[in-house]
Amino acid sequence: MESVIVHGFGLAWYPINQTPLDKATYTISLTVPEPMTATATGELTATINNGDTSTYVWEVSIPVSGVSFAAPDPVLDSIVGPDGLTINNYFPSDFTQISIDRFDIVPDVIALFTGLFGPFPFDSFGITFLRGNLPFRGFGPPQRVFLMLSDERLIAHEISHQWFGGSVSPASPADNWLAEGFVTYAEILWAGHIGGVDSVAESIRSIRRRIGENTRPPAVVNSPAEVIDQSAYLRGVLTLHALRLELGDDDFFEILRTYTSRFKYGTASTADSMSISEEISQQNLGEFFNA
Ligand SMILES: [Zn+2]
Repeated sequence: MESVIVHGFGLAWYPINQTPLDKATYTISLTVPEPMTATATGELTATINNGDTSTYVWEVSIPVSGVSFAAPDPVLDSIVGPDGLTINNYFPSDFTQISIDRFDIVPDVIALFTGLFGPFPFDSFGITFLRGNLPFRGFGPPQRVFLMLSDERLIAHEISHQWFGGSVSPASPADNWLAEGFVTYAEILWAGHIGGVDSVAESIRSIRRRIGENTRPPAVVNSPAEVIDQSAYLRGVLTLHALRLELGDDDFFEILRTYTSRFKYGTASTADSMSISEEISQQNLGEFFNA
């Protein structure tokens, strides 16, 4: 079965300014041959059978910085998440029950992150599982994430992008650690939730060993490749963990919840994240952030 996935280069497919500073709502109408199903950002509001083809209409009612869509051959698996959240997952039609069961953790991941980061930012959620020779393991645009693997930490990573990246987008490429650093830390928090506090400490130690001193600060970017290198992901994690140790859990998670609520559906910069940290902790953190 041939399929198509569109993400990250939306300009080739639809008119878009391609900047998180210009978010918009969308109506996405996709006509695909049978037996494909077109899944996309937003909520499915209509399915029109045209004979050999079907048209799927997805509405995005909350402003986002771009949409993603895929047309695989999936089967819908609807479950209910925390606070009645609708979760519409699409799995390959020949997916085994064991494969589907790997996604049983999704409501628990959302519940944990809702407690730590604040309310789930979108009206519904869903995962589309993709097969094929694609150059990624998964990605987490708003409301619908696309996965190639059912790895637990990857699931947690892409779900946490709903808050960090999807709802609150980095204002500039140099701020990308506010998405990737935060969600890589969220992965570690999920693993710690399952494996205990020691697993968080061990993850931090292993990151420190891995990157040593050979990285730039997370918010410094000199080339496009550096937007998604280990400084954004791993130095981002170390920065957040250091902030947590400096301020304690109460202030740290209050900072995250204030950040996700204040910049909901908008953008935030590194300076914004620093000033919220100072505001909540009532401390001058200039020296801390410089270090
Ligand atoms: Zn990511």
